[in-house]
Amino acid sequence: MQIITSVTEMQTLAHELRSKGQIIGLVPTMGALHEGHLSLIRLAAERADKVVVSIFVNPTQFAPSEDFNKYPRELEADVAKCESAGADYVFAPPADEVYPKGYSTYITEERVAKPLEGVSRPSHFRGVTTVVAKLFNMCRPDLAVFGQKDAQQVAVIQKMVADLNFTVDVVVAPTLREPDGLAMSSRNRYLTATQRTEALSISRALFKAREMVAAGERRSDRLIAEATHILSQQRRVRVIYVSLVDRLTMEPMRELEPGRGLIAIAAWVDEVRLIDNIVL
Ligand code: AMP
Repeated sequence: MQIITSVTEMQTLAHELRSKGQIIGLVPTMGALHEGHLSLIRLAAERADKVVVSIFVNPTQFAPSEDFNKYPRELEADVAKCESAGADYVFAPPADEVYPKGYSTYITEERVAKPLEGVSRPSHFRGVTTVVAKLFNMCRPDLAVFGQKDAQQVAVIQKMVADLNFTVDVVVAPTLREPDGLAMSSRNRYLTATQRTEALSISRALFKAREMVAAGERRSDRLIAEATHILSQQRRVRVIYVSLVDRLTMEPMRELEPGRGLIAIAAWVDEVRLIDNIVL
């Protein structure tokens, strides 16, 4: 497996691979890789001839108050994990090559990005769409794999790809969870044992909603009330949102249309911000 840090080198490689007819699969990440990320790499390896994993903690998707500086960085361990999961290249460019001095072009998706995460993190998706578009131009993938764990990110990227005529196939991989239900996340390592126990209420609330739907419940107010009730029993958990939305547009659904809906939760567990969702 090869590590590439230069944008020009990445573009040259992508050009060479494409001219040989090789299918390129890209897995964009911010590193601190866990099994969830590795499942994306394995999926990309099944679908593509060559897999590029980008590892880049993207400064433009963090607000000044957020955890950019303390976000975990462990390139060496990540590289070993990428190799074991079947990646062919790790692309880890330095920030000043991605955003050189004087950088001034951004991409904003203006509808799907607005609700949910967009309310509490208004500049977040502008950073995500900008860096993903740039990674597409750098790595020239035929397909790119994203996790359902970040459901709104998936929807925003699918919309960007459609609106801007990118010829990249967006592949969505299911959320990987710990055996007790907690969605895997690089931010879970910030949690103490007590916080982690309380954080479990997030997946519990989602699973409860799924059970209610299986029993025939369709009303969003009832699903949301029950999920909120479960979260509210934890002392350290503060709900940011609990919403039932259309999984493509992120618009609220009053009445669930099974297969189209998504219940999404964001919550603070003390100072750690966690998100999770389940397709209904
Ligand atoms: P991140 O490095 O956290 O930005 O995540 C990189 C990619 O991994 C994104 O497409 C995420 O949605 C995906 N991802 C993160 N956590 C999980 C998980 N638990 N299961 C599946 N995919 C995940």
